[in-house]
Amino acid sequence: LSDKLQSTLQKLTGKGRLSEKDIDAAMREVKLALLEADVNFKVVKDFVKTVKERALGKEVLESLTPGQQVIKIVNEELTRLMGTSEVKIDFSKKPTVIMMCGLQGAGKTTTSGKLANKLKKDGKRPLLVACDIYRPAAIKQLQVVGKSVDTPVFTMGDKISPVDISKAALEHAKKNGNDVVIIDTAGRLHIDEKLMKELQDIHEALEPSEVLLVLDAMTGQDAVNVADKFDDMLKLTGVVLTKLDGDARGGAALSIRSVTDVPIKFIASGEKMDNIEVFHPDRMASRILGMGDVLSLIEKAQLAVDDKKAKELEEKLRKSTFTFEDFLDQMQQMKNMGPLEDIIGMIPGMNSKALKGINLPDNEFAKVEAMILSMTKKERQKPEIIDSSRRKRIAKGSGTSPADVNKLIKQFKDMRKMMKQFGNMSKSMGKRKFKL
Ligand code: GDP
Ligand code: MG
Repeated sequence: LSDKLQSTLQKLTGKGRLSEKDIDAAMREVKLALLEADVNFKVVKDFVKTVKERALGKEVLESLTPGQQVIKIVNEELTRLMGTSEVKIDFSKKPTVIMMCGLQGAGKTTTSGKLANKLKKDGKRPLLVACDIYRPAAIKQLQVVGKSVDTPVFTMGDKISPVDISKAALEHAKKNGNDVVIIDTAGRLHIDEKLMKELQDIHEALEPSEVLLVLDAMTGQDAVNVADKFDDMLKLTGVVLTKLDGDARGGAALSIRSVTDVPIKFIASGEKMDNIEVFHPDRMASRILGMGDVLSLIEKAQLAVDDKKAKELEEKLRKSTFTFEDFLDQMQQMKNMGPLEDIIGMIPGMNSKALKGINLPDNEFAKVEAMILSMTKKERQKPEIIDSSRRKRIAKGSGTSPADVNKLIKQFKDMRKMMKQFGNMSKSMGKRKFKL
């Protein structure tokens, strides 16, 4: 997904304007890319529709380049779809019972250990409960996991029913001061009635605060069906998406949330006990988009460019009253975005190799700035008055040479001429012509 979507969106960046046709073409490709990533068909359809509606509106015309705007909208919608902010665990009930469920091999036992580990770090005193009495060595596995995270494991062997084990575990927890009880249940290769009945019985007996479905992210579209069925039977409170370290497609996260409305609470990306984190929809959106830093570039750009200032500047261009002071202002805005090198590095498709051989004018910036700062207010507003003696004074004040000052003035005048044409053009078209 990432590569394809990235190249699609990359085509959009750097364009001055985005026509309806452009958006349509891009959205067709975004749609294909999402479907390819196993995102549910209906979800994709709704998603594309929403983005298109937003992109076609006036938002595309204001600030940023249209391409950047589309990326931003796509990202925002992805984030919104997966839940706007992260959802945490509800600890109001004491002890808090967390029931882990899911198909065989999804990662329930591993995740139980990870959760215990995480909760311990938050100052909790968890108890792990072995309720998988079917899978050979399942109890032993939980004991090993429990030991590795220094958490007690409650077990009654494999002769007693999981419901009775879990009830006894709750009593044990109350007596021993465990404030969180994590129940590691059995899984099956497929959902069947017997498994569901057992899980429902445990659910009824313990009334868990959290029923977390552990899902293997690698199973894609299938994960959504599983989530849907488990939610029907058990009323899930959250999903843990595992194995995101593999070739996993974030697409599952997208569909799960929008099809079942169950929030994804944690993600796991590795077998080690500290490989678990709270789910952040915005990060997952970036992951699905595979755009990496391009999103932070957009944020930076938006911070740096004050819309009001841009409008004032446009007005000045139109009237061609652009001065060295405005120029300085512009330079400072660009500096707010960080070193040019960083900014170029954040653009998709640009890497450090592409940067080699290009001389970045960062120190050139400083020089120009020094020269402008050495000018008087009058000189900045009316560069025409800068004669050779003024030139010498400015050069001296900025540690440059009169030739440097001369060059700057010439460049400035050329620029102003160009901008005047530009300004007239934008006036005749009645549209903003500015882009970053
Ligand atoms: P259960 O049957 O649901 O209890 O699943 P397990 O906890 O036994 O995990 C099944 C396999 O998946 C084990 O080999 C785990 O080490 C592995 N596993 C679990 N979570 C992750 C993960 O986030 N990333 C990777 N790469 N492997 C995982
Ligand atoms: Mg297990």
